[in-house]
Amino acid sequence: MATRIGRAELLAVGSELLVGETRDTNSGDLARELASLGVEVQRASALPDRLEPVADAFRSALERADLVVSTGGLGPTPDDLTREAIARVTGATPHVDPELEAWLRGLFERRGLPFIEANLKQAWLIDGATALPNPNGTAPGWWVELPSGKVIVALPGPPREMRPMWHDQVLPRLRAQGLGTDRAAETLRLTGIGESALVELVGEEVLRRRNPEVATYARVDALDVRISTEADGERTAAELLDAALAELLPVIERYVFARGDETWPDALGKRLAGRTVATVEIGTAGRVAALLGGAEWLVFGELLAPESALAEAHPDAEAFALRMREVAGADVGLAVRARERDGDMTVTVAVALADGDVHQVTRTAFLGGDMGRRRAALIAAAELWKRLGPA
Ligand code: AMP
Ligand code: MG
Repeated sequence: MATRIGRAELLAVGSELLVGETRDTNSGDLARELASLGVEVQRASALPDRLEPVADAFRSALERADLVVSTGGLGPTPDDLTREAIARVTGATPHVDPELEAWLRGLFERRGLPFIEANLKQAWLIDGATALPNPNGTAPGWWVELPSGKVIVALPGPPREMRPMWHDQVLPRLRAQGLGTDRAAETLRLTGIGESALVELVGEEVLRRRNPEVATYARVDALDVRISTEADGERTAAELLDAALAELLPVIERYVFARGDETWPDALGKRLAGRTVATVEIGTAGRVAALLGGAEWLVFGELLAPESALAEAHPDAEAFALRMREVAGADVGLAVRARERDGDMTVTVAVALADGDVHQVTRTAFLGGDMGRRRAALIAAAELWKRLGPA
């Protein structure tokens, strides 16, 4: 049961750190690395070479964090107590690992030095621990996975030993386990397509993938498609997201009217590119103005009651759209007429882009009442967007 590493604590073990003999550079180095990977480093402590405080520090750090990284205290002398402290906290009994012992004895032979039994400590392992080879010294590190899924990493103190072990051995293991939050996401906002048609279009397989994860959310104003990625050890989340978008966009691009937090007024503003709009809406109780009224490009908005004389005098939506354009001196005229029919809303939308360039469609908005009127306004926005075409 591996735990995704979200929070970490750092323990710098060594009395020399507490008398100012040595500066703790390890914690800063590790903190920067972990933070850049999206792991929150909650605490960094310096501890003396004494069993009680070191064991206590491991115990309490494990209560708060998913990962505890220690540096120092892995030497052969009696005051190097990190292994003992970890064994105590995990309730494990250390044993001499034959492979490590052979490697260690080999090191001494190569140097022509007699093997001192005290060194055997550096060949210790406990259950759940994996030795991390130290190519630059005699103290192997430990990678310990606890039954809770949390992880302890013990590294030697000298930075020139610690750093390569961290990079070459610890980081790949942490990444494999799932690290922090190098995640990226983009939401594409779609119009003119429903959820089931989208599944058909992109394929179910795409929607079942874990990374990139593609999720759809049917909202009132859009079908949102959220693509999220997580760094996989080879590529960053941003790179994976770019790749996912490059694959998905060509398939659905013609339905995408906005991204992220963009709204209908934002999307229309882009396509209008400086042009202005005048609207008239009939039977929508002002929902078109409510949707678009905040946009600076909307220079004129008229609301007519369906039974009013003016509305009845203009039964032709196309002519009305042309007229609005003219009256308001706007670049674009929009006429929207909604009628409730059998519990749904029949919506006629006319868009006039220029003299003689006017186009009308009739659509059905699902449901009547206020929801139907809101959907009628959304249909009008979508038709305008379509008419305007790509900027
Ligand atoms: P140790 O693994 O405890 O035997 O550490 C041996 C040496 O590593 C110390 O004497 C220091 O020179 C160095 N060292 C230990 N901890 C740190 C640290 N947190 N930051 C920088 N250097 C350290
Ligand atoms: Mg030490």
